[in-house]
Amino acid sequence: MSEIKFACPHCSQHIACDDLYCGERIDCPGCEWEMFIPVAFKERSHPCSTTLDFGSEKGRSQRASESRDQQQPSLLPLWVLLLLPFFLAFILISHRAGMVAVEWCFILCALAFGFYLAKVREHTGIGAFVVSLLYSFAMLVVYVIMALAILFMGCLVLIR
Ligand SMILES: [Zn+2]
Repeated sequence: MSEIKFACPHCSQHIACDDLYCGERIDCPGCEWEMFIPVAFKERSHPCSTTLDFGSEKGRSQRASESRDQQQPSLLPLWVLLLLPFFLAFILISHRAGMVAVEWCFILCALAFGFYLAKVREHTGIGAFVVSLLYSFAMLVVYVIMALAILFMGCLVLIR
């Protein structure tokens, strides 16, 4: 352990502290400017202890943003699954496929949606299966409402 000395980049206040705190975020005692204690001073004597970063705000905010990054892209498939069956149904109908194929297309998409949503919400065990089916059923209802809405819009356009 040794003392390091540096100056605040904002007000040039001279600061001295133990080199154990290298890399830590502090507020300048002179002007309360937020800064990091320089690491370079420490590296000259012996390697910087990594345990210091654990409790610091920098480490916490980094971890928080990492978990946010993991969650964000996972919602995209849900939006895709919301619109996918209508797109598929349009293709199926334009290829003169039967209504059974269209129905299955909606049911499979609803199931995929339900199971994916249960996975995103981190349900586990038998409960996850039940919740998945509930989500799937709810999604089927949403599909029906959306289909009716599209039909209604189509009728409005035809009437005009
Ligand atoms: Zn300062």
